[in-house]
Amino acid sequence: MIQNIRAVTRPRRMDHFQYRDGVLLAEGVSLEAIAEEVGTPFYAYSTATLERHYKVFAGAFDGMDTMVCYSVKANSNIAVVRTLARLGAGADVVSGGELKRALAAGIPADKIVFSGVGKTVRELTDALKAGIMQINVESEPELEALSTIARSLGLEAAVAFRVNPDIDARTHAKISTGKAENKFGIEWTGVHEVYRKATTMAGIRPVGLAVHIGSQLTDTAPFRDAYLRVRDIVAMLRADGLNVERLDLGGGLGISYGDSAGLLPGPAEYGEIVREVFADFDGQLLFEPGRVIAGNAGVLVTRVIYIKEGATRNFAIVDAAMNDLTRPSLYDAFHEIVPAIEADNKAPLLAYDVVGPICETGDTFCIDRKLPALAAGDLLVIRTAGAYGAAMASSYNTRAMVPEVLVREKEFSVIRRRLEVDDLINLEAFPAWLSNNPD
Ligand SMILES: *Cc1c(COP(=O)(O)O)cnc(C)c1O
Repeated sequence: MIQNIRAVTRPRRMDHFQYRDGVLLAEGVSLEAIAEEVGTPFYAYSTATLERHYKVFAGAFDGMDTMVCYSVKANSNIAVVRTLARLGAGADVVSGGELKRALAAGIPADKIVFSGVGKTVRELTDALKAGIMQINVESEPELEALSTIARSLGLEAAVAFRVNPDIDARTHAKISTGKAENKFGIEWTGVHEVYRKATTMAGIRPVGLAVHIGSQLTDTAPFRDAYLRVRDIVAMLRADGLNVERLDLGGGLGISYGDSAGLLPGPAEYGEIVREVFADFDGQLLFEPGRVIAGNAGVLVTRVIYIKEGATRNFAIVDAAMNDLTRPSLYDAFHEIVPAIEADNKAPLLAYDVVGPICETGDTFCIDRKLPALAAGDLLVIRTAGAYGAAMASSYNTRAMVPEVLVREKEFSVIRRRLEVDDLINLEAFPAWLSNNPD
């Protein structure tokens, strides 16, 4: 009964993690087989899903002058970024480190956009020297700093101004970025003034505006509101004789994590909003999708260490933890969890809290989740973990850093090896006064 209800309401999913003969595959490779070879926990990504998501997203703007700059922070592995680069993707980076990754992955510099509120002199210098397409400036002090650096290098910075449109994205507070009280962007009422001033500054060439109001948006209305505001500002700038050749419309399109009742807006619906607002815009539109490309292209695979029957609950204690996938503890995020070996359809479902070994109560992947009966040694698959998963991982509790595996049809390859505990300890050193062992 429960199974049937699920089958009807489950939103469409465009991924390549499916059961075949009771075994959960990533494309043509069994996750159990990867676990045997790589050990657990690990992340596995599907090349076909990454490619499909990119093409569906880019295809939503067919016939328009657009560029898709994948948001590297969602999943920054160079193999993932290169997979997208091969399809023609540009990159949106938010640090000098990500800039280096994007270049290492093979993204051409002239397809890279640099966003972020706190770019340092070093980062701005590296970006200018690399000759990236555009720097999204988020404050006047940043504009002044960029002008100084560009002048000293004898270069010119193509600049877009990130607008803070004061629009509520209606998403989780920690990933909402477009309200006046958020640290991001220049308040929309002040953008015109800054833009005009920038045209007189040495080393600066204003090219347009940027806007990004948050992540995991499940409603298109805030996009429309923000874009309408940007369109109004463009009209004012152009009426003032100012050059606006590009608009960066950001990322943020939400995805289904398996807990939403109805269908969420997808790239097609989002594309409609963009067409509606910018049909008459004369210039190029950039997009910075992250989650919608990588989210459903990855899973986190973990093994049950113990089943513990608590006083009021059953705990499935697994070998992945909040340091490997932080979204549940950080954002109270829901992730669907399924066994790698499909349970019998008629098997009863039991309620489990799936938890990691870390010494924090927040180290919980789900509470009171109905799952088939579990036993120590079972392999569980945490779905929709391809975005903001490995990229946010740490080694808290001195846990080896989780490896990443990329699957392509029947092949797979380790694209980040496990960073072992010895690797971590070897990064540390004693000062001279502690160099001897205590007596
Ligand atoms: C994080 C971020 C994105 C990507 O957001 P998603 O929700 O993953 O699509 C795009 N642009 C900027 C400026 C960001 O900070």
